[in-house]
Amino acid sequence: SEFNAFSLLGSIIDRLSLKGYKEPTPIQKECIPILINGNDLLGIAQTGTGKTAAFSLPIINNFARNKIDISAKSTRSLILTPTRELASQIMQNIDDYAEGLALNTKVVYGGVGRQGQVDAIAQGLDILVATPGRLLDLIETGDIHFKALEVFVLDEADTMLDMGFFKDVQNIIAKLPKKRQTLLFSATMPKEIEILAQDILTAPTKVKI
Ligand code: AMP
Repeated sequence: SEFNAFSLLGSIIDRLSLKGYKEPTPIQKECIPILINGNDLLGIAQTGTGKTAAFSLPIINNFARNKIDISAKSTRSLILTPTRELASQIMQNIDDYAEGLALNTKVVYGGVGRQGQVDAIAQGLDILVATPGRLLDLIETGDIHFKALEVFVLDEADTMLDMGFFKDVQNIIAKLPKKRQTLLFSATMPKEIEILAQDILTAPTKVKI
């Protein structure tokens, strides 16, 4: 399939065909090569377009190719999304695409016990999917740091704004290292998101679906 045109690991291509993905969606076609190269991205796209695979396949691919020792107890990538439903869905998809690649992943959100989350973070994570409230809580108690963060994905930025999470999101971003790859996805571009995008993205490629 056209997925073969991307330089994705064979095992990822196999997972995609097992899931019945025949061809990449338009957003995947545009985003995957850019993201494998490490560029920043501004994606204007809604849920249902295949954006989860668009941002997660390059992260999985690049981390599986460049396995580093995460015994430093660090978190390599953070995907921030507004609701626990979205967070769980993203995590399920990632664990499905990344099966067999031995990446450490975890999803954290509020309303459930935090000890299991703290323990998983302490092991070192390749991919962390989180909602803003619980993540800020974990930052404030010193249970997570982002010293070695390589990739940050802000998903559904406009929904974050609508749900009143904007301040939390800004407080989280303030804790991230400046040198990183950043991806921002939003279905719409209100002024606040435009300003945030200018602030946190470096020479981004803009993809509008
Ligand atoms: P998303 O927009 O990321 O929430 O994805 C919407 C749905 O499309 C999910 O159920 C995905 O599993 C599915 N999907 C994503 N990419 C593809 C693809 N290339 N071919 C078929 N289904 C896909």
